[in-house]
Amino acid sequence: MTMPVGKIDPEKVALDRPIFDPTAFRLDEAQAAIIATARELGQSVIAGRAAAYDRDAKFPTENYRDLHRTGLLGIAIPRKHGGLGANYQTYAIAAAEIGRYCGATALTWNMHVCSTLWSGPLADDLDMDAATRAEHERRRAMHYKRIVDDGAIYSQPFSEGGAAAAGGVAFGTEAKPVQGGWIVNGKKIFASLSGHADYYGVLCTEIAEGKKASRRNTLYLALPAKADGISVVGDWDPLGMRGTVSRTLLFKEVFVPDDAALMPRGVYFQAAMRWPHMFLTLSPTYVGLAQAAYDFTVRYLRGEMPGTPPVKRRMYPTKQIAVAQMQIKLEQIKSIWFQAVTEARANPTKEQVLRAYAAQYSVMEGANEIATLAIRTCGGQAMLKSLALERIYRDSRCGSLMLPWTAELCLDRIGREALYETGESDD
Ligand SMILES: Cc1cc2nc3c(=O)[nH]c(=O)nc-3n(C[C@H](O)[C@H](O)[C@H](O)COP(=O)(O)OP(=O)(O)OC[C@H]3O[C@@H](n4cnc5c(N)ncnc54)[C@H](O)[C@@H]3O)c2cc1C
Repeated sequence: MTMPVGKIDPEKVALDRPIFDPTAFRLDEAQAAIIATARELGQSVIAGRAAAYDRDAKFPTENYRDLHRTGLLGIAIPRKHGGLGANYQTYAIAAAEIGRYCGATALTWNMHVCSTLWSGPLADDLDMDAATRAEHERRRAMHYKRIVDDGAIYSQPFSEGGAAAAGGVAFGTEAKPVQGGWIVNGKKIFASLSGHADYYGVLCTEIAEGKKASRRNTLYLALPAKADGISVVGDWDPLGMRGTVSRTLLFKEVFVPDDAALMPRGVYFQAAMRWPHMFLTLSPTYVGLAQAAYDFTVRYLRGEMPGTPPVKRRMYPTKQIAVAQMQIKLEQIKSIWFQAVTEARANPTKEQVLRAYAAQYSVMEGANEIATLAIRTCGGQAMLKSLALERIYRDSRCGSLMLPWTAELCLDRIGREALYETGESDD
């Protein structure tokens, strides 16, 4: 059940307009309500905490309590399980609204939500026999209950520093089947929410005696953070997205029971092959950051930025041209991204897959281009740490690095897949 956010007094503070106007973008009432909850929470509560999380590289624990309070922790959990029942598109737009106010909160929330989106609406589109589906239904109900009732937070560590996170080879983190579950051994780097999630949704390879590790045998297991054999190591002092606390996770002989499976055997591999938009979910955060850089610039040039003298700079033609360039870039990002998230589904066409890569590239590179223009246009006083723009700039630089769809890998895939049909070679 969504609860009103209720901290903003609309008499005193003007609510920001939605990034995607529900009428213009043909969103229905239920979608608009969920997205509005995210925007209001973002503006009224999350925005005010963002600078401290960034400065101290501290996990946004308080924001997670509010995400739970407002139902957003279970945004993609079906209504019959007590969630808000958002589909992919609704979640993506809501996440952009959170990203507008705090990049680190939106990015970590994405890791959490994917554990429910992938095991939920996405898994419903994939092939399973009746018994497997029934077992999956029983298990995911248990995971969903933890989130809805207890506010449990899930993370999604899959990066290992090798080629696995790019989809090239099997994950090096291994799960050995034993009576009643698995024993997990391995290491994950850049594991956002380390030390703060209640469950680590680990992608790993189930090993079979005498067989070579294969991507087909990828398992997606929720390891309780308190399980014996799990440790969080290394420090975390990065350029941007500092509140994600993406430290290194080590797993040494960690036992997890069968119910830890967030997807049945073989289903993650099927998803990666048949539901490629599952990897586009890192982009909403950066759509929000692009909007935030634009909003900042307009407010600043109008002399309306809280915490700065009311000096107007909007009358200079150079500023007007820069804002026009930012607005054009923002609309381009929004258009291609909205189309891509709207057509996310199983078995997309080749055109839809190429568009998804192009959307990811446009958002991840474009958000930082807009933030760069914002800094140049607003000038020196605007990039002081007392204002949000320099954080937006640093956070926005991190988007292109997110595997498996880094900006480089998107270019790589678009070029190859546009020029070669499946199975074609020049040999
Ligand atoms: C703020 C932040 C939060 C993160 N949170 C998470 C998280 O929660 N979970 C998680 O699993 N990961 C997370 N990551 C990790 C992220 O997805 C990448 O895995 C990480 O940035 C990899 O960095 P790397 O230097 O090891 O990449 P490398 O593997 O060394 O690759 C470097 C670059 O080379 C390119 N490249 C890689 N492979 C190929 C290839 N086969 N062909 C061509 N080019 C290639 C890519 O463009 C890549 O950016 C996070 C990263 C950041 C910055």
